[in-house]
Amino acid sequence: MRILVTGGAGFIGSHLCERLLHEGHEVLCLDNFFTGSKRNIARLLGNSGFELIRHDITEPILLEVDRVYNLACPASPIHYQYNPVKTIKTSVMGTIHMLGLAKRVRARILQASTSEVYGDPQVHPQTEEYWGNVNPIGIRSCYDEGKRVAETLMMDYHRQNGVDIRIIRIFNTYGPRMAINDGRVVSNFIVQALRGEDITVYGEGDQTRSFCYVDDLVEGMIRMMECAGFTGPVNLGNPAETTILEFARRIIALTGSRSQIVFKPLPADDPRQRQPDIAIARERLGWSPQVDVETGLKKTIDYFAALLAEG
Ligand code: NAD
Ligand code: UDP
Repeated sequence: MRILVTGGAGFIGSHLCERLLHEGHEVLCLDNFFTGSKRNIARLLGNSGFELIRHDITEPILLEVDRVYNLACPASPIHYQYNPVKTIKTSVMGTIHMLGLAKRVRARILQASTSEVYGDPQVHPQTEEYWGNVNPIGIRSCYDEGKRVAETLMMDYHRQNGVDIRIIRIFNTYGPRMAINDGRVVSNFIVQALRGEDITVYGEGDQTRSFCYVDDLVEGMIRMMECAGFTGPVNLGNPAETTILEFARRIIALTGSRSQIVFKPLPADDPRQRQPDIAIARERLGWSPQVDVETGLKKTIDYFAALLAEG
C-alpha cells in the first residue's frame, strides 16, 4: 500500500514509518519539522519506498494514498504552548485537510488522538466511554480541545461522507528518538540523570502517569488501522501506573546517577492521575503491551547516553 504518515519525522511517526517500510509498504512521510527532525528519519532516506515531503498540514495537499496516519501535532506541553494558535490550527484545519484528502482518494484515515481528551479525569482508570473533564480556556486547551475537535471531525466525516476512519487515544508513550529538548517527563528525567543535574519533579510528584514503550504503541496503531469495521475510539497505552516521584527514583536507580530530586511548581491544569483501561484494545485488536517499563527505559537510557556521548 501507499501510506501517508503526517508528523512522520517526529518521535512516534519515525518509528511508524520504519515499521511500515519494513512491512514492504511505500511510505510518504510529511512533516513541517517543528518538533521533528531529519535525523529521526535519516536512515530511511536511502530506501526506495520512502519519500519525504516538507509540508504544513494547515495548508491543503493532494496525494494519492491508500492509508493516512495523521500524527502531525506537537505533543509536549512546552512545544504545543509555544504557539497555541498554531497548535489548534494544526489539529482542526490540519485534520480537515487530511479528511478531505481521505474523502477524495477514498483512503482510510487514522487520527492520533490522546488521553488528554479525558483532561483531569474523574473516572479512573479511563474508559473510552468517559467524556472527560477538560478546561476549555486553560493553557493546555489548545492541545486538548484541538484533539477533541479532531475526533468530532473524524466522526462527522464518517457519518456524513462515509469516510473510513479510525481513532486511537494514545497515553504517555516513550522511547528512543524523543527529542533531547522535548520537555516531557521521560526525556527530561533521563537527560538530567545522565548529566548529573537535578531531577525536576513538578508539584509534589504524587500525580500519576502510565508509560507505554513506542514499539508496543506502533503495533497497536497498525492493528487498529487494519482492523475491519471498527472506528474506535480505542485507548492505546500501558496500564502500569506510577507516581512521578516514584518514576524519578526509578530513573536515578536505572542510570546509577547521583542526581538529586528538586521540586518545581506544578503547571496549571496538570492532570492528577492517568491510567488507560485497555479492555477494548485487548478484545477488538488482541493487543496489549509486551515491553515492561524497566526494559523500555533501559533502551531509552542507552539511546540518550549515546546521543550525549556524541556531544
Ligand atoms: P512529536 O512532537 O515528536 O511529533 C510530532 C510531529 O508532527 C513532528 O515531527 C512535528 O514536526 C510535526 N508537526 C507538527 N505540526 C505540524 C504541522 N502543522 N504540519 C506538519 N507537521 C507538523 O510528538 P510525538 O510524541 O511523536 O506525537 C505524535 C502524535 O501522537 C501527535 O499527534 C501527538 O498528539 C500524539 N500523541 C503522542 C503521545 C505521546 O506520549 N508521545 C501521547 C498522546 C498523543
Ligand atoms: N513533569 C515533571 N518534571 C518534568 C516534566 C514533567 O514532574 O521535568 C511532570 C508533569 O508535571 C506531569 C508529568 O510529569 O505531571 C507528565 O508530564 P509530560 O509533560 O511528560 O506529559 P503529560 O502531562 O502531557 O502527560
